[in-house]
Amino acid sequence: MDRRTFLKIGGAFFVLSSSCDFKDKTPQNKLLSYGITLDSNRKIGHIARKAILKPVVKQLKTDMLIVGGGIAGLAAACSLKGRAFTLCEMNETLGGTSGAVNINGTLFGQGAHYDLSYPEYYGKEALELLKKLNVIEWSASNKRWDFVDKQYLINPNKEEQCYAGGSFLPSVLPPGELKTNMLDLLRPYIGKTKLPTTEVSPELHHLDKISFYDYLKKYLPITDEFIASIDYQMLDDYGGTSMEVSALAGIHYYTSRPYFSQPEPELFSPPEGNYYFIRKMEKTLTAQSIKTGHLITGIENKGDHWVTQAWDVKAEKKIEFKSNNIIYAGQKHLLKYLYPAAHEQFEDTNYAPWVVVNIELTESLGNNHYWQNDYLSANSQFLGFVDSGAQKNANGNVLTAYYCYPGIYHHMVEEIENNPRQIVQETIGYLSKYYQTEIESKVKHAYVKLLGHAMPVPTPGFITKPKPTEKSTLTFAGVDTGRLPLMLDALDSGIQAAKLSI
Ligand SMILES: Cc1cc2nc3c(=O)[nH]c(=O)nc-3n(C[C@H](O)[C@H](O)[C@H](O)COP(=O)(O)OP(=O)(O)OC[C@H]3O[C@@H](n4cnc5c(N)ncnc54)[C@H](O)[C@@H]3O)c2cc1C
Repeated sequence: MDRRTFLKIGGAFFVLSSSCDFKDKTPQNKLLSYGITLDSNRKIGHIARKAILKPVVKQLKTDMLIVGGGIAGLAAACSLKGRAFTLCEMNETLGGTSGAVNINGTLFGQGAHYDLSYPEYYGKEALELLKKLNVIEWSASNKRWDFVDKQYLINPNKEEQCYAGGSFLPSVLPPGELKTNMLDLLRPYIGKTKLPTTEVSPELHHLDKISFYDYLKKYLPITDEFIASIDYQMLDDYGGTSMEVSALAGIHYYTSRPYFSQPEPELFSPPEGNYYFIRKMEKTLTAQSIKTGHLITGIENKGDHWVTQAWDVKAEKKIEFKSNNIIYAGQKHLLKYLYPAAHEQFEDTNYAPWVVVNIELTESLGNNHYWQNDYLSANSQFLGFVDSGAQKNANGNVLTAYYCYPGIYHHMVEEIENNPRQIVQETIGYLSKYYQTEIESKVKHAYVKLLGHAMPVPTPGFITKPKPTEKSTLTFAGVDTGRLPLMLDALDSGIQAAKLSI
């Protein structure tokens, strides 16, 4: 989650969020008196099947239909240069994996939660959009793009702490010769592993043919302990281990910014996480053009136009959109149901499911807050937590825990859906160990967000997959179009999809 500190100290069908307060059969006692709000894909298969059988009650026309209101869909909408569009997002709120939950009037991130300042050699178009949104400004002294809202920068001394079996380590990667040698090995790539990833020089593309594990094994006497730490970091940002992600993705993780030199990149993390960027984009768009709670259930190519069916979840009505163009910025595995003709090009994508647990506390746990709290344990799915106490204007005591599951474990997410209390209890257990005190009695409420098909894993071949260059009436955006699962790549994918639209 935080790439800076690794160096610093040591050297089903659809996934529609329907939020519900969960009532389980656990006997309530003093320690278990908190409630749980579950945000998941419960009942969605049923909703989608019901929607397909219903008649169309309204037909609407639009020049551009955008499917999906995550970073990519909104970036596409912001790049249409005044063209008429309608954006349909199946959830009641925008954001996708950069979403947030409202806890007593303050938004807290429930997915992506940070970004870092951008070097001058990053892709111009994404930076221009962020500049236009007044998110970044050029810093002549730092020679990079810094964030405008300084209050959301994390204090460099409070960025990270790593818990491992009862003690605290300075960083996830164990300090020593192996770490030093690995960083020396990767240093020459700084300045070449750019964002968006389409800017990565073709001379590095051969690194996308092998796994990061094989790359490291070739050059270094790696140990199991060292690889376990690398895997933690790969899972944290890419949803896959070093054996699963490509060498290009792995090297990109450690070298995509000048982490080795001063000044270090700024770490930007508002309490609402990357929903901040969603809000910035939404503010520039016409509210009537954005339809949340609208699930796309089918797309038809009519030759000179497209007909798309959408289910209005609240009104329980089916609408049909006639459009000249479509930008599809939803997860691509759904295409096999919505528009099978376009699914083949995405069918090899491996998505990792994630679960986010926001724990709201009745009181703050001390004054010594670290933003990112890594947690090395026997449970490799648990990837630590973010403490809102280290974020400005957080207005509340919220600890946000992250779990990432292998793609083949989609059933785990279903199990959590049926019994969210188990993962909340598990999280409270980890937190109690971390703080060396029982915290269950201080838990006010827990919010569990299930993100199935959340993160496309950058397996070998994924990032260098050829991207379309021809203009078309159907274009694709999103990090699952052969991008790294990072804010700037998502943003750029939306910009490029808009540019390629006819
Ligand atoms: C837990 C987690 C933590 C992360 N942390 C970070 C981080 O700190 N920094 C970072 O840079 N990146 C992070 N990422 C990566 C992050 O996913 C990307 O940066 C970015 O948010 C992806 O945006 P997207 O638009 O490509 O996809 P998504 O966010 O997946 O958006 C797709 C949208 O399409 C909608 N949709 C899908 N199908 C339909 C349909 N049929 N009808 C209507 N709507 C539909 C979905 O509901 C969703 O809103 C994280 C990812 C996860 C899962």
